[in-house]
Amino acid sequence: MSATELLQDRYGASIMLTYGMPPVALARGSGCTVWDVDGNSYLDLIGGIAVSALGHAHPALVEAVTRQVGTLAHTSNLVLHERQVELAERLVGLLGTDGRVFFANSGAEANEAAFKLVRRAQGAERPVIVAAEGSFHGRTMGALAVTGKESIREPFAPFGVDVRFVPFGDTAALENAVGPDCAAVFLEPCLGEGGVVPAPAGYLKAARAACDEAGALLVLDEIQSGIGRTGEWFAHQREDITPDVLTLAKGLGGGLPIGACIGIGKSGSALGKGDHGSTFGGNPVACAAALAVLDTIERDGLLDNTAAVGARLAAGIEAIGHSMVTGVRGTGLWLAIALTGKAGTAVAATAQRAGFLVNAVQPDAVRLAPPLIISQAEADSFIAALPGILDASSVVLAGQES
Ligand SMILES: *Cc1c(COP(=O)(O)O)cnc(C)c1O
Repeated sequence: MSATELLQDRYGASIMLTYGMPPVALARGSGCTVWDVDGNSYLDLIGGIAVSALGHAHPALVEAVTRQVGTLAHTSNLVLHERQVELAERLVGLLGTDGRVFFANSGAEANEAAFKLVRRAQGAERPVIVAAEGSFHGRTMGALAVTGKESIREPFAPFGVDVRFVPFGDTAALENAVGPDCAAVFLEPCLGEGGVVPAPAGYLKAARAACDEAGALLVLDEIQSGIGRTGEWFAHQREDITPDVLTLAKGLGGGLPIGACIGIGKSGSALGKGDHGSTFGGNPVACAAALAVLDTIERDGLLDNTAAVGARLAAGIEAIGHSMVTGVRGTGLWLAIALTGKAGTAVAATAQRAGFLVNAVQPDAVRLAPPLIISQAEADSFIAALPGILDASSVVLAGQES
């Protein structure tokens, strides 16, 4: 038995199988490379699902976390500490507006805070939340209630929340759904778990206008798209709009768990004393990590790297012209390779055997969300290997059919 198989046996006996059985057991990483417990190496093209923005064991992250854990690892929110204030100031500064931050420990929790903020600001007379079909906002009960994927939501109903789902990207449907009974619209600028599906140009602007007209709040979930993933600090900045509430997590901590709910303008004051809380929220170590992520993105020009390497990856994949690939979606280092038929799982498995970690985000799409530090040479190594990966996948699929 391999070390991976031994660990999988123990995992199967001790861990709830909510993720099924993972095919890889990782031991360590450096830069964009990770090694499994049997010593095989992989180019990490998924980055812990758009989390490991600085790759693995980045010296800036190691230094910041080590220093903070050796100084003050935890405070609770009975007291304050400077790292948390500094991070809030930096995030609001990147938005170029005024606002206030509530720190949480995950994406779902950031959205729960947004949900409570909306309730507090709008009251019971506006019970309806509008959200998109195919959206993903997290697995806790509030975040799940506004998640537009029936197969993961319906088994856990009822939620006690009145949600109106609209087809993502359909401006007229959104405008029709947002009325005087509507408290807020929850949107991702680009569906992440839904398969890296960007909103059509003008969609967010139309959502902003519909919210303004109806007196609803616009909540943008940038948990996956934010912190440089698309080559901008925040994906919505490309559309030149300002949301009322912005939620962040994934890439923010570079691998340490942290989430943020930012109330912009008036929304920054909707939640008051006693309205919300989290024992670990804004933990000093997580905040130190996030500050190191922001510093490194700025210092090393990683927004430009993200835009340049992302464009090269997308163009390189399209140029292969393989019959299994119908196109490439997404922006920056956040791409979906759209496939003919349900080839996603086969392609991800074949890529793994070839030394690349990718993710079958949908049955017919493979997601790439590598560290923002990935080099052109690393991206090129995947482009060079992809024809062989696709050919091997089509053999696997043909075998399954016969
Ligand atoms: C991952 C994700 C979440 C949930 O974040 P967790 O940290 O897993 O709770 C919410 N919204 C979006 C857009 C996400 O990609």
